[in-house]
Amino acid sequence: LRDAGEPVDESELAIEGALRPTSLAEFVGQHKVRGQLQLLLDAARIQQRPPDHILLSGPPGLGKTTLAMIVAHESERPLRLSSGPAIQHAGDLAALLSSLTPGEVLFIDEIHRMARSAEEMLYLAMEDFRIDIMVGKGAGATSIPLDLAPFTLVGATTRSGLLPNPLRDRFGFTAHLEYYEPEELEQVIERSAAMLGVTLPPSARAEIARRSRGTPRIANRLLRRVRDYLVVYGDGMEADTALVDAALDLYDVDAIGLDRLDRAVLDALVRRFRGGPVGLGTLAVAVGEEAETIESVVEPYLVRIGFMGRTPRGRVATPEAYAHLGARPAESVLD
Ligand code: ADP
Repeated sequence: LRDAGEPVDESELAIEGALRPTSLAEFVGQHKVRGQLQLLLDAARIQQRPPDHILLSGPPGLGKTTLAMIVAHESERPLRLSSGPAIQHAGDLAALLSSLTPGEVLFIDEIHRMARSAEEMLYLAMEDFRIDIMVGKGAGATSIPLDLAPFTLVGATTRSGLLPNPLRDRFGFTAHLEYYEPEELEQVIERSAAMLGVTLPPSARAEIARRSRGTPRIANRLLRRVRDYLVVYGDGMEADTALVDAALDLYDVDAIGLDRLDRAVLDALVRRFRGGPVGLGTLAVAVGEEAETIESVVEPYLVRIGFMGRTPRGRVATPEAYAHLGARPAESVLD
């Protein structure tokens, strides 16, 4: 799942790949998770066995794929990438698992979207490195056990609540990634700017960080837009705060980093539903988006910055949300 307005352009994805840190030491922020992962990898190395299975949850763009790559890289094991939506039958998973080489790291993105039948096969595979393959149909059907090479599963999900407990329980380590602090995003931007050959004064880095929605992927993306702006309008490669503002305004990122979809959701909540409470499904229909996108991409950030609240009766707007939209609560009731 990508965040709204995410580039799908191949060259953008290639740059995103090039900016990925390859070691835990280079990975910015998430101190606790990093320390825990380091211990897990060190223990596995000392005991010469594959690291335990790892489940990473959190909104898109916070570094789940990057951490999976780091796990493979630091433990010097090959990495196989797959995703929940690509595993629609147990057979898809059987083919994938039986082709793994010993010790390989298997990354399954959006693991909550895998087919149920595959989930059940995965339980046994994770626990005993074994699967049962069904052959034939009806009364003549038999199951043939198949031993697998030991592997490390790294699962990523934006919605850990959607994973069945038996699956969640089989991960030796689970971590939830949090949105990044602006100072951490400044470090991400500093590193990426150096790699892209862009010179940014600290004030410009701070401005990009402030508008990055707590998300490294967005920070890198905004940095590339600033770089584009510099190439076209700037002379040389130095960006000041005014130039950063001009570049980001062009891309519909507001002063606190909300994008068009964030603002559409807030606007619907405040003006159309008079501040709520309103159900997630209704809100999603009002802005023409999938409920899952609203729930896993938009809502966590709006809740985190105190613009949206969740009540048993639905989502509500806070006074801060009204203030940001320049709306008065009384006005909206009269709409
Ligand atoms: P996810 O899998 O959670 O959607 P990714 O791992 O694909 O996120 O990260 C998106 C981009 O953000 C990558 O290009 C990566 O370089 C960058 N990134 C993510 N987390 C960090 C971090 N902690 N430090 C530096 N860069 C990061």
